[in-house]
Amino acid sequence: SIRTRFAPSPTGYLHVGGARTALFSWLYARKHGGKFILRIEDTDLERSSQESVNAILEGMTWLGLEYDEGPFYQTHRFDRYKEVIQQLLDQGDAYYCYCSREELDALREQQMADKEKPRYNGKCRDSADQPERERVVRFRNPDHGDVVIEDLVKGRIVVANKELDDLIIARSDGTPTYNLTVVVDDMDMGVTHVIRGDDHVNNTPRQINILKALGATLPVYAHVPMILGSDGARLSKRHGAVSVMQYRNDGYLPEALLNYLVRLGWSHGDQELFSIDEMIALFELEKVNVSASTFNTDKLIWLNHQYIMNSDPAHVARHLAWHMGERGIDPVTGPALIDIVKLQRERCKTLVQMADESLYFYRDFDSYDDKAVKKNFKPGVEDVLQAVWSGFDALADWSAEPLHQVVLDTAEKLQLNLGRVAQPLRVAVCGGAVSPAIDATLALLGREKTLDRIARAIK
Ligand code: GLU
Repeated sequence: SIRTRFAPSPTGYLHVGGARTALFSWLYARKHGGKFILRIEDTDLERSSQESVNAILEGMTWLGLEYDEGPFYQTHRFDRYKEVIQQLLDQGDAYYCYCSREELDALREQQMADKEKPRYNGKCRDSADQPERERVVRFRNPDHGDVVIEDLVKGRIVVANKELDDLIIARSDGTPTYNLTVVVDDMDMGVTHVIRGDDHVNNTPRQINILKALGATLPVYAHVPMILGSDGARLSKRHGAVSVMQYRNDGYLPEALLNYLVRLGWSHGDQELFSIDEMIALFELEKVNVSASTFNTDKLIWLNHQYIMNSDPAHVARHLAWHMGERGIDPVTGPALIDIVKLQRERCKTLVQMADESLYFYRDFDSYDDKAVKKNFKPGVEDVLQAVWSGFDALADWSAEPLHQVVLDTAEKLQLNLGRVAQPLRVAVCGGAVSPAIDATLALLGREKTLDRIARAIK
């Protein structure tokens, strides 16, 4: 059965590019009833950190990309890598290399001068065992033939073995190198489909040769193109948020980000919105674009708004709760968040906007928005607010319709445009001139807070 993996190096947060690769691997496994494995490639001790591991796990959890096996840590597997390196040595598929840095530099310079591609010349291939000397282990790459990769995204890739040199698989301190650990893990973990960024495509023929030497079943490869920023350079911090958790902080729903990422370089007709189940059913690696895709924040915002409007409000409310918590708001001090979602979802494209523009439901404000005051608190505004206050105070039924009627009646009685009543009222109770429909807002805000705030504005 199908087994895919996501194999991040924990050297920072979970990048959206990584999240997209993880999503593709996850979808592929889910689609085929297979298993999705998480492997932490933490052998670079200098650059790896527990903090990054936590950030990756947090990102995976937030996105809902649950893994069936793992997380496995490469640092826990050094004994196994040593064993495989020894096996390759014993089989004659690897050898000790005693060449010094100076020798290798000189070789390289000579090759450059001769306009040759710099590669190791195999000098130590037949050297005798000299355990007392400093040495690395190199893989004995085949001299002849081609490596053929039938990449599910890129199509057929053919690399001549004579283009590949004898890769170092163990450093002089005995630690394994990246290409060796990946190969051993993919083999031991029974990975059937290696889905990863196409920045790794040059490693693949080398990894295949090592897998062959180990008698392993070769996985199928799918190299996914990079994500670019709007200027065509590889997506990075200077283009905006690249960390998955930053998207949470910026008010996106995880499903919206997943929908955005699945559509980035993949399409199914002109369908834009995909539930997770649809993604699983419809996603095909073969249909992923060969060329890189450009990240488009406007489209992501549009999708996010679609998800905010159309998802179960209870679900949106759970995510909104996090943002309210970040703002020090305890939801018991105001309306149920699910009602906030229903009231605000048409007008709020992000949960940050929804949270920021719903604070007045939960706490009093210290000051009004300056511009709103200038525009709406004109001379005589106290009389308007007093009239509204009295009308509201007399209401037996505190709901949108009677509240609306009071605003209408007040405008008529004072012979004012509706806006000359509704806007000052809005500033008085919300602190600014922006809110959902005033009647629905007041219905949700409640009698006590509404009357208090109007009274406060009159004084
Ligand atoms: N650890 C590698 C990375 O983060 C991925 C290796 C792989 O997927 O084979 O780029």
